Amino acid sequence: MVAQDTSQKPVIFLSEGTKRTRGRDAQAINILVAKAVAEAVKTTLGPKGMDKMIVDELGDVIISNDGATILDEMDVEHPAAKMLVEIAKAQDEEVGDGTTTAVVLAGALLERAEKLLEDGIHPSVIIKGYKLAAKKAREIAESTADTISADDKVALRRIAMTSMTGKSGAEAEESLANIVVDAIMQVAERSEKEITINKDMIKVEKKAGGSLSDSQLIHGIVIDKEVVHAGMPKKVENAKIALIDSALEIKETETDAEISISDPEQLQAFIDKEEAMLKEMVEQISKAGANVVFCQKGIDDIAQHFLAKAGIMAVRRVKKSDMEKLSKATGARIVTRINDLTREDLGKAKVVYEKKIAGDEMVFVEGCKNPKSVTILLRGGSEHIVDEAERAVNDAIGTVSAAIRDGKIVTGGGSIEMEVAMKLRDYATTIGGREQLAIESFADSLEVIPRALAETAGMDPIDTIVELRAKHRGKEGKYVGIDVYKAKLADMNKLRVIEPLRVKTQAIAAGAEVAEMILRIDDIIAGSSKSKDKGSEGPGGEFD
Ligand code: ADP
Ligand code: MG
Repeated sequence: MVAQDTSQKPVIFLSEGTKRTRGRDAQAINILVAKAVAEAVKTTLGPKGMDKMIVDELGDVIISNDGATILDEMDVEHPAAKMLVEIAKAQDEEVGDGTTTAVVLAGALLERAEKLLEDGIHPSVIIKGYKLAAKKAREIAESTADTISADDKVALRRIAMTSMTGKSGAEAEESLANIVVDAIMQVAERSEKEITINKDMIKVEKKAGGSLSDSQLIHGIVIDKEVVHAGMPKKVENAKIALIDSALEIKETETDAEISISDPEQLQAFIDKEEAMLKEMVEQISKAGANVVFCQKGIDDIAQHFLAKAGIMAVRRVKKSDMEKLSKATGARIVTRINDLTREDLGKAKVVYEKKIAGDEMVFVEGCKNPKSVTILLRGGSEHIVDEAERAVNDAIGTVSAAIRDGKIVTGGGSIEMEVAMKLRDYATTIGGREQLAIESFADSLEVIPRALAETAGMDPIDTIVELRAKHRGKEGKYVGIDVYKAKLADMNKLRVIEPLRVKTQAIAAGAEVAEMILRIDDIIAGSSKSKDKGSEGPGGEFD
């Protein structure tokens, strides 16, 4: 790549085969890509949104309505598209919901920005206007929000339901919402100043089979493993639990790597020694007083036999994350060397038992020392259903936690977006100049949410927006949104379509941020070195 410096001497600073796109072209491409990504998820918005089916190279199928999941699975290539995916992920981590909203909003902001660019408005002016608008939008949303008490279970359930609608499992929405709210109530820690919710304390375990309404909240931990030996007890009350993260096996290296055995007696001696060592291990566990063992690694057949004989229940190859949860729940310390195991390391639970769920054995640890650990056991007709239910439940955990933490809610169905849009337009006139145009574009962009919801309900988008604007100006006010089920405008507060304020402020901030980031780019330099391994498909293909 050759560039000209001011002295007209060519300066070579990019390797051969590098592709470069600059100025308006760069912007146009990025905007085009971002718009396409936003367009792809827009139809999934809301309870009446459609699902996407994504098939990967291996033929695995994912069916989802979840913005972050769809984008993640789409495996997008273009950097601008990747930026949108990042935003969706960040939104998902921050609040667990509102990902589609953030992406759709970013797409709309860029679409409006493109018009402003065509009218000759400089990107930096648009960025400045968008920044002002985003800040103001936050203020407006905050002052529009209502408060909610952390004990208002009824409202919290509605929040859970709003965030779950649209994902598969609508018929079990209510029971899942109850489970989520109960789970959060269980793990919430109240101090005088605040309520903290450690979402890691809620384990979501899924098992295909049965129906979504068979899902349940277990006050304890469920491990998707079976008791390792048929001779072991299937139920232990007053469990004393040992957590061991090394194998209950004799490692080759421990018994002198190379042993050449020449006669049968020697072999027998060797086997006897191994057996004695395993027996000693089990005795150590038994001596410490454990009657349940969760082992992160394998358990040798002979060790299993001795454990069974000692009346100890054992589970092997437990996931590391489950070991940690068990440790938190039961108070057990995870031990590596069995010789170190003492009574103090053991955890406690009222009962540990094995139970068959959908043909598979699972181990339940209930009545834990720390009652704050819970498991949501999701059931459903197929893998696809439980996977999507898991995403729905995770969204709901995020929104209910946010609502409890902040104590602020807004109404959905596009009502909050319309309210913010309207007040932003008033604000724009106080700014004037070219920034005013950008702020007005920001307001228009927010209307993409009620518009998209109207479209999913089969309503005329233009008429609906005009009518909705009028309602927000009128005395019916801030709660009016799209009743997607009845395909008409309605008071979202009466319908109790409520969401945490944070989902909206975060989505607006995230959407604005990525739009600004993309607008700021006026130069795309596509390096050839990275695309070489892709052969002729890469941008450097013409050099092959
Ligand atoms: P996101 O990933 O942005 O959360 P969703 O597909 O979950 O996208 O849709 C969220 C939108 O659907 C929000 O604007 C929310 O207010 C709206 N919504 C949820 N439930 C209802 C309902 N019962 N009636 C109208 N709108 C709803
Ligand atoms: Mg949602």
